[in-house]
Amino acid sequence: MQTDIEIARQARCLPMPEIAAMLGMPDTALLPYGHDKAKISQDFIKGLGDRPEGKLILVTAVNPTPAGEGKTTTTVGLGDGLAAIGKQAAICIREASLGPCFGMKGGAAGGGRAQVVPMEAMNLHFTGDFHAITSAHNLLAAMIDNHIYWGNDLQIDDRRITWRRVMDMNDRALRDIVVGLGGVTNGSPRQGGFDITVASEVMAILCLASDLDDLQKRLGDIIVAYRSDKSPITCRDLKADGAMTVLLKDAMQPNLVQTLENTPAFVHGGPFANIAHGCNSVIATRTALKLADYVVTEAGFGADLGAEKFLDIKCRKAGLAPDCVVLVATVRSMKMNGGVAKSDLGAENVAAVTAGCANLGRHLRNLQDYGVPVVVAINHFVSDTDDEIAAVKDYVAALDAEAILCRHWEQGSAGSLELATRVAEIADSGVADFAPLYGDDLGLFDKIDCIAKRIYHAVEVTAPPQVMAQLREWEAAGYGNLPVCMAKTQYSFSADPALLGAPEGHVIPVREVRLSAGAGFVVAICGEIMTMPGLPRVPAAETIHLNDLGQIEGLF
Ligand code: ADP
Ligand code: MG
Repeated sequence: MQTDIEIARQARCLPMPEIAAMLGMPDTALLPYGHDKAKISQDFIKGLGDRPEGKLILVTAVNPTPAGEGKTTTTVGLGDGLAAIGKQAAICIREASLGPCFGMKGGAAGGGRAQVVPMEAMNLHFTGDFHAITSAHNLLAAMIDNHIYWGNDLQIDDRRITWRRVMDMNDRALRDIVVGLGGVTNGSPRQGGFDITVASEVMAILCLASDLDDLQKRLGDIIVAYRSDKSPITCRDLKADGAMTVLLKDAMQPNLVQTLENTPAFVHGGPFANIAHGCNSVIATRTALKLADYVVTEAGFGADLGAEKFLDIKCRKAGLAPDCVVLVATVRSMKMNGGVAKSDLGAENVAAVTAGCANLGRHLRNLQDYGVPVVVAINHFVSDTDDEIAAVKDYVAALDAEAILCRHWEQGSAGSLELATRVAEIADSGVADFAPLYGDDLGLFDKIDCIAKRIYHAVEVTAPPQVMAQLREWEAAGYGNLPVCMAKTQYSFSADPALLGAPEGHVIPVREVRLSAGAGFVVAICGEIMTMPGLPRVPAAETIHLNDLGQIEGLF
């Protein structure tokens, strides 16, 4: 069996102008980054105006298990499948964070015969977007400390600075640090810390902004600190928004690459899926929709977090509406949801598959509540047995829905033709009638309560008095119309990662709330959320190297 990187190396890539031509784009729309990646120019995007948009297809999944579900792989496989049945298709996915590549995470470019190339570039520096975001974020951090150093006219309370620093590296030693040590000329010591770049609000802003003007406005709205009377100080107060926009000018332009089968792939932005909304940029999705008849995109984590945020934050804010949703499930993840340990996944266990399907069933019903048609894609692993696959199909059929077996990981588009045909039919039928879960005017706590009860099937949401008071303060300050961004474990519908399947009767505890005023959402933190990962005992970095041909080895 070939590894992902070996398959990727054999890719027959087309020159970027040919990929652009598939979408009707002239060469002048491309800003080449080498031979196999390009940015799409801001001027070209502006010139697209109000062109009619193609069909939007969301790929989401059941709750993630260590067995791996394959959302990105299915996004790529479906895009290639649509192209293979003669449709003009494009895919939209997130860029990869560099830090986790040296830890233990797999790549972000799909897998097997359903990958985006060049995968090495995409998983490492790519076109430098994350470096630009890091620089813009840290410029603001530097301007805060500099402002205090030169007399603090804005009266920033240095115990109430909420803006930390970021770096695109897993480095636990930087989580909590003291800055400003070393004497008067270095400023005053205060506690600070680093998050990973994908957790930056600048990342979320870049992914939600409609254009450069909107980007600058949102950057200006970022709240960086408070005065001792608790009044907020924004990025605009520090006059940092203009320079940050300059640093982000190129990063705002979507990146274009291709799949192994030469389907155009927009790879742009990569916000965290817990404290942020976890999907690729609005500008990439919009541009793709104006250029392609079918756009397949992915949301992070399971449907309870990823699809919910895609629909209630991204679609609501950008005025997007999916025409079809593909819910990815695997026999292996159903087995784990049915109580099987990872080490026992190899043995056939139809009863466990059926039991685990309760997780799939709940996601399916939840998605249908948004008014969107849902198809289940069973991402086939070579170890799956016929009876196990039949168990998933039977379960889905009993819910009056359809499940389609896909073998794109093993076969590329040849393995996803049936899924592609069905998805195109459904998208074309116009049956989708999308509406977000809750209205803008619902109270902030009521929004959290609505998601917890309707999506997670919790009985209750609890929050300490200071959280309730904070939410009321934000409502009074005019932030009450924002959507909420739930930060909860991705492994369960509940707040307990060990509670698999379809738990009932659980309580969702909101420990803390944060305001991302620039991105435009209120984050509700329900459990431990790590915004600066560490490396494992044996990091992948120990084996990553260049071989004699100068190729990267050990990446995946
Ligand atoms: P997600 O987007 O849901 O996190 P990915 O599509 O990135 O998942 O896949 C996670 C890992 O699982 C990748 O390494 C991929 O190669 C592997 N994978 C996905 N589908 C299959 C499959 N059908 N058979 C074997 N491995 C798979
Ligand atoms: Mg993915």
